[in-house]
Amino acid sequence: MRRFVVATLVAVCPLTAGACLAAPASSSLPEPLRTTAASLRDEAVRGTGAFEIVRSLTIEVGPRPAGSPGDKLAIAWGVRTMRELGLSNVRAEPVTVPHWEPGVAEAAITAPWPQPLVILPLGGSVGTPEAGVEADVVVFPSVQDLEKAAADQVRGKIVFLNKRMERARDGSGYGAAVGGRGRGALVAGKLGAAALLLRSVGTDNNRTPHTGAMRYEEGQPKIPAAALSNPDADLLEAQLASGKPVRVRLKLGSRRLPDEESANVIGEIPGREKPEEIVLLGCHLDSWFPGTGAVDDGAGCAIVLEAARRIGALPQKPRRTIRVVLFANEEFGLSGARAYAEAHAAELPRHVLAGESDFGSGRVWRVSSRVAPEALPFVDEIAALLAPLGVTERGGNDSGGGADLIPMAPARVPMISLGQDGTYYFDWHHTANDTLDKIDPKDLDQNVAAWAAAAYVAAEMPGDFGRAPEGEGGE
Ligand SMILES: [Zn+2]
Repeated sequence: MRRFVVATLVAVCPLTAGACLAAPASSSLPEPLRTTAASLRDEAVRGTGAFEIVRSLTIEVGPRPAGSPGDKLAIAWGVRTMRELGLSNVRAEPVTVPHWEPGVAEAAITAPWPQPLVILPLGGSVGTPEAGVEADVVVFPSVQDLEKAAADQVRGKIVFLNKRMERARDGSGYGAAVGGRGRGALVAGKLGAAALLLRSVGTDNNRTPHTGAMRYEEGQPKIPAAALSNPDADLLEAQLASGKPVRVRLKLGSRRLPDEESANVIGEIPGREKPEEIVLLGCHLDSWFPGTGAVDDGAGCAIVLEAARRIGALPQKPRRTIRVVLFANEEFGLSGARAYAEAHAAELPRHVLAGESDFGSGRVWRVSSRVAPEALPFVDEIAALLAPLGVTERGGNDSGGGADLIPMAPARVPMISLGQDGTYYFDWHHTANDTLDKIDPKDLDQNVAAWAAAAYVAAEMPGDFGRAPEGEGGE
């Protein structure tokens, strides 16, 4: 029934905002609140400072993997930027992060038809010996197939996982393909493989491999792991299809270094009546090493910072506090997210809603949540408010909210997810091509409009979202 009501609202909602404000007819939100939220939305669509924020991050900082010199520059940038935007209580809360260095990465087919291969090390990989490793290649369609393999098929060989990621608006192809990146080297190592080569988890056909986190287990063999660009994976696949033995030489200079100090950068718009109650807007400040981290996740940080700035610039601050958190090290182990949940455990019961923008700059098209079931009408109200932005779909009430929000799930913090169009996101994700030119400023403005309106409603509304159901959410 709820879905029917929202669909009806969308259908009768013209492109101009005014007529939408009357809906839903039995709104539980006060009229002034809805008027202010709608004006936040409509003014943001006319143009925001979000692009300038991500522009400055990519130009003045650029790559900022956990523990790197860029990570420290990013923290200073975050503190400076929050102050310039007028946020209060700006601080950098310390987080210890792992530090891994990619080093040199070279690979080549040495037989039957020698050719260079374009690769990147997977995040966390060990290096090879100085001279590299050279071995015959054995291919598997997926990590699930590798898990069923016998050790004598694999021992001493370079395992090639050849799973291709499918393009989808909601990014669902990622979940289906990313398992090989996370645990491929662990599975291959247990079977005695010499190294792992992975077809990049990405939807492009550029010669830009996609890195990303992988993991080992203590007590299990640790073998070097690298991603091939899609065209390089095609080449390797084609040589293997000849039926001749294919050999590859791989050299990685990757290594772990001692842990480093990083920080979650935090700033607030203090609430006027209930400052102890918090609406959290998150993004992650770290990036992978090859690109400038424009879409992952400079865009998300720009969106939530600009949304908060616009709420802070209202004549009257909302009742509750809006807290922006630029999380440290999302990419290589959620260090910042865990540190935040631990340091703020006592106030998590007063986090009334949390959301994270971490899916590039594509337009918002769907609202999902994980709130108390009796609070779902409030999510419907937010969805109706966002309908004029082209946000026409309602997801379920099982949203994970965002990777950095996972450690808050045990405290049953209510979550909202503004689902973005990810059709092209995985062309650039974790590659050297993650750069500023991929961002359309108007798309960024639409995201700011959606987050500003949603966050304002949560911070100002008389009721709240209760507590989320148990569990981490699956969407
Ligand atoms: Zn990200």
